[in-house]
Amino acid sequence: MSTFSAPKGTYDLLPPDSADYLAVREAFSAPLRRSGYGYVETPGFEHTELFSRGVGESTDIVTKEMYTLTTKGGDELALRPEGTASVLRAALQANLHRGALPVKLWYSGSYYRYERPQAGRYRHFSQVGAEALGAEDPALDAELIVLAADAYRSLGLRHVRLLLNSLGDRECRPVYRAALQDFLRGLDLDEDTRRRIELNPLRVLDDKRESVQRQLSGAPMMRDHLCEGCKSYHEQVRELLTAQGVAFEDDPRLVRGLDYYTRTTFEFVHDGLGSQSAVGGGGRYDGLSEMIGGPELPSVGWALGVDRTVLALRAEGVSLELPPATEVFAVPVGEEARRELFTAVTELRRQGVAADFAYGGKGMKNAMKSANRSGARYALVLGDRDLTEGVAQLKNLESGEQRPVPLDRVVTEVCAKLGRT
Ligand code: AMP
Repeated sequence: MSTFSAPKGTYDLLPPDSADYLAVREAFSAPLRRSGYGYVETPGFEHTELFSRGVGESTDIVTKEMYTLTTKGGDELALRPEGTASVLRAALQANLHRGALPVKLWYSGSYYRYERPQAGRYRHFSQVGAEALGAEDPALDAELIVLAADAYRSLGLRHVRLLLNSLGDRECRPVYRAALQDFLRGLDLDEDTRRRIELNPLRVLDDKRESVQRQLSGAPMMRDHLCEGCKSYHEQVRELLTAQGVAFEDDPRLVRGLDYYTRTTFEFVHDGLGSQSAVGGGGRYDGLSEMIGGPELPSVGWALGVDRTVLALRAEGVSLELPPATEVFAVPVGEEARRELFTAVTELRRQGVAADFAYGGKGMKNAMKSANRSGARYALVLGDRDLTEGVAQLKNLESGEQRPVPLDRVVTEVCAKLGRT
């Protein structure tokens, strides 16, 4: 006999903890649904080239972290490492961009990166994302950032910080890129990093090593090279955020690991998570559509990490107030009682009450244990004597108080007690 474990870098979501994951997804997506974002779902895998072109040939995600496969039919596919390229692909394929703009979409799902597993970094993880396609408007950037900031706050998180930067556009970014390359070429760096200077110099700014950071103190910064258009756009985003009471920190070093970003870039970080501190991030990607063969379609979006947000909740000691999984637990004694209570449970459920039942023919003592463990507020107990008297015992599991309820009024009484009409 063999036993299997989940593959390295993955983990299972099991009750009761899994309830927190659902609550985080709900907290992230509810504000989007209230703000005109429609739900989109794309396949878990795409043509590998979508990501190599979209995310960027020189990024870690594409060079090291993609799960790729060749199908029996010879297709080169990759498990999706992120959501934006797929969502944009789907929108272009369905011609959504020919309708009213912006197209606002949200999604929730699993993503896959072959990374070195550590606390907060997994090979399979979960994101909720939002994309607003086809509009260049600082208020749209601000909308998305406000929605994310409010979502973290609605969960009760108090230590999420927002880092904000602008990466410029196709006019000013190349000039800055060249200036940065000039500066970086003069530094004492290893072979790998020297190669990165030529491919993706902005990423060198993100190098976490002390030996590299020390040399970067005089590096040219994008913010000093922004063109007038980018400068004014960024200023408007900042003003709109301030007006909504959303605090941010300007972080001129923020570049992020994906190539497609332009102008507004942001990251939400949590200080209780150690080195994997980013709980979410995003930005504007005005050139991405063209990079994957579409028309010009300036867009902005974000993806928030569900796994790390749950870790952040734990780090802050926040426990979510979740509706009880079970409100009423039925405990029958004897065959006839089982039939009666099973019907009552079905009816309660049909009335919208969360109800469960002592299955497996357990004795009264074990059944009451299950009732207590379920977290239910009430137990509905039915024994032989109750049956002859035509009542069930409704027991408040918090106070221990118990009283008989006529069998034909059980559903009405329980609904009334729980405040259901
Ligand atoms: P990114 O697409 O890299 O900007 O990721 C957006 C968010 O997804 C991050 O801020 C993290 O919260 C989460 N995330 C990214 N990669 C991982 C991973 N390997 N494990 C867990 N969460 C991740």
